[in-house]
Amino acid sequence: MSARWTREGRNRPAAAAPAAASARLQRPLGQGPAFAAWLRRARRLDLPHALVVEGGSGVGKTTVLQWLAAALLCPSELATEEPCGVCRTCVRIAGGGFPDLHVLERAVSDDECKEGAEPRKSYHRITVHQVRDVQERLLRHPVEGRARVMIMACADTMNEEGQNALLKTLEEPGAATFLLLEAQKPEELLPTVRSRVQRLRVLPLDEATIRRELQQRIPARAAQHETAAQLASGSLGRALLACTEHAVQLHDLVRATLATTNGLRPLATAAAVLQGQKEMRTSIEAARTFLWLLRSELRRRRDALAAAESAPYPASTAEPWTTWLESTLAAERELDLLIPPEQVLTACLLDCRGA
Ligand SMILES: [Zn+2]
Repeated sequence: MSARWTREGRNRPAAAAPAAASARLQRPLGQGPAFAAWLRRARRLDLPHALVVEGGSGVGKTTVLQWLAAALLCPSELATEEPCGVCRTCVRIAGGGFPDLHVLERAVSDDECKEGAEPRKSYHRITVHQVRDVQERLLRHPVEGRARVMIMACADTMNEEGQNALLKTLEEPGAATFLLLEAQKPEELLPTVRSRVQRLRVLPLDEATIRRELQQRIPARAAQHETAAQLASGSLGRALLACTEHAVQLHDLVRATLATTNGLRPLATAAAVLQGQKEMRTSIEAARTFLWLLRSELRRRRDALAAAESAPYPASTAEPWTTWLESTLAAERELDLLIPPEQVLTACLLDCRGA
């Protein structure tokens, strides 16, 4: 498996994706003194052997992981606080071509899920085949770095067999070997795994920082910045996603759906969300984006209603909103369980009828 590392979160918008060749290591924003202390330890190779980097979707876990991996691997003797970010090692870490950095992630194409593909991958799980494959590679000596680093994206989706296989490496990782696990829901990891790792929580960004970053990164889409910052809940990844044309279209669809309480057509709406998505992966991403926007819009309306009634969520109002919001969360979990996106969306929209 090649150590590809070009993603920037699960819902990363294609428009904001830098090409691998021109990838630059990004310094994480707004992570404070606790993270600075972890970085100094990484520079001294004094990091715990296994660390779970946790936080909500799109909050910047990937950027934090990459910077931390670079802090372990960057050979610059002048950079004692953090990686230099510009040496050949740092550049290759950003581009996904550094031999001592092993990246595990779920499948991103249909080919990787096919019978006979080595190691077998899945769209939904980190498989035991992937865990065993990386364990073999971690047994070898570092090729050129000062350490060997494994980054596992979406480690909370690792199947139970995979987690049990990983225990061996967590107990005896070998010299200068570091496992960095990314997890949105660390509670999904087995207690035996959790007891062997330390945790680093990625902090959400404030709206002003998000607006400033959007202004710098995608000034051409200024019309979307304000809405995107409000929808983002502290996540720059989500803010960038909200500025893409596709997300703007899906947001319009959410508003149109909620505007037609009597004429809501779940099947037609699900078809509109998934229109033009040819691969399973992109269908799931479109469904996730729609569900996130639907939840944000439901929350906004609930809060507006509560404010108008000048009481926080009166019992009569709170109950149906809670049901609808929970329905969007349940739908996201169903996407993880291989249930077809059109079915998930249709069922969720039936639940939200009357919102
Ligand atoms: Zn460097």
